[in-house]
Amino acid sequence: MLEAMRVRAFAALLALAGAAHAEPALEAHALLRDPDPTAEEPAEPLLARVQQALDLLELASRDGRPPAGEPRSDAAYALTIVHRVARGTGDTALEVANAARAERLLGAGDERALRMRGEAERAAGHDVAAARAFAARVERLPRERRRGARLDLVEALERVAVRDRRALPAARAAADALVAEQPSDAEARAHGALTRALAGEPCAAGDAGLPLLALLSRAMGGAFALENDTGLADAELVPTLAQLAEARRAIARLLGAGPEAAHPLRVRAVPPGTLALLAPPWACGLHRDGAVLLAIGRGVSPERVRSAIYHELAHAASDERAGGRCPRWLGEGLAMQLDGWPAAERAGSPPLLDWGELENPARWTGEAEVARTVYVESRAIAARLVERHGWPGMVALLERLRYGRNLETAWREALGEPFPASPRDYGVTAAAGDGAGAGDAAGGAGFASASAALRAACPTGPRSWSAILVSSGSALR
Ligand SMILES: [Zn+2]
Repeated sequence: MLEAMRVRAFAALLALAGAAHAEPALEAHALLRDPDPTAEEPAEPLLARVQQALDLLELASRDGRPPAGEPRSDAAYALTIVHRVARGTGDTALEVANAARAERLLGAGDERALRMRGEAERAAGHDVAAARAFAARVERLPRERRRGARLDLVEALERVAVRDRRALPAARAAADALVAEQPSDAEARAHGALTRALAGEPCAAGDAGLPLLALLSRAMGGAFALENDTGLADAELVPTLAQLAEARRAIARLLGAGPEAAHPLRVRAVPPGTLALLAPPWACGLHRDGAVLLAIGRGVSPERVRSAIYHELAHAASDERAGGRCPRWLGEGLAMQLDGWPAAERAGSPPLLDWGELENPARWTGEAEVARTVYVESRAIAARLVERHGWPGMVALLERLRYGRNLETAWREALGEPFPASPRDYGVTAAAGDGAGAGDAAGGAGFASASAALRAACPTGPRSWSAILVSSGSALR
């Protein structure tokens, strides 16, 4: 980032120097050709040099017209390198900025600029904008080179249609056009079947023996391997896949962690009864051994599934951030910050526990009435932490834990304040962070709603117990 700023400052100086750099396009050419940027070179210097060349090429075309001839092919070459580095390092901001530069240097209608724009919008989660760019790119390519662009377009529209059925006709039309152009292409036919399955039509991908969920998982970015053991038709899990993708984006924005296509998170959808065999009866989600179990079926509302997805993905991301060293109460408190269950539902007036009690495994596995106190209090502590230090504070704390600091040290280093002697010292009261009035706290209704929240929260297990013991101060491994 600093390097990029330095390069921009350099370009500004060049602009001021004016006549002294009358041939910026030639300078750019030299920068790109000597030495060969495709040679083994660490990404950072390569990126800086190529960005510098692009700054010079922009300087050379200050009349607003895209360059022609050699400078144009230099620009396309350099833009492609930056695009690849940005994609490879997951730097979406750079990818988006580079796409804008491609439009300036190549022209907004150039098919390479359109591909970079489409891929950048896709990386940023803007599927409608991505589809628009891919559709324009299809138009600019000769028929024999359209397949990749059509596939990009179909997948972008499928992602939109999963969230908004109004996009289904466009997705179907794009898939039909793909099939018409590539009638013997199995992938094209699979997308044709997939878009019909999304529309709930009988000729579904499943009927054709095609892996609908695998295809759709890939179209959605490939971060999840969703398995359907519910007994429901695959098409009924399409909303679940959309919820997973949405939760992944939201949590990654806050924690900078989450599953990627290179390491997809295994998510098994099971009937509610099956999950009850593995976990206490209130659970409708579970994160264990690097995989997520979700209860989906009769009696589980879409809101509960959505909440469980956010909750379990938050566990997966915080475990990843903290290298598995996140204390139980911190992980639960964090997950409850993100699972979207109404704050008022969490309100309660438990006896305020000390740290030792929060780390007592028996507290987490007891009757719902006992366990309620640790969940509510963990949420209040996490809410207080985020209120005081924001999500960057939470991330810093998890990072310190990852590098083996004990909780007290990690807290002091990450948050710049001593670890509180008790939750009460941290200003945590029963309803803190809930945003709920105290009047809602103690009554029977409060308990009933807190129990509902508990049912959405994930249960504890032997692995979690050891995590609690491990996280207790100096006992940290
Ligand atoms: Zn949980």
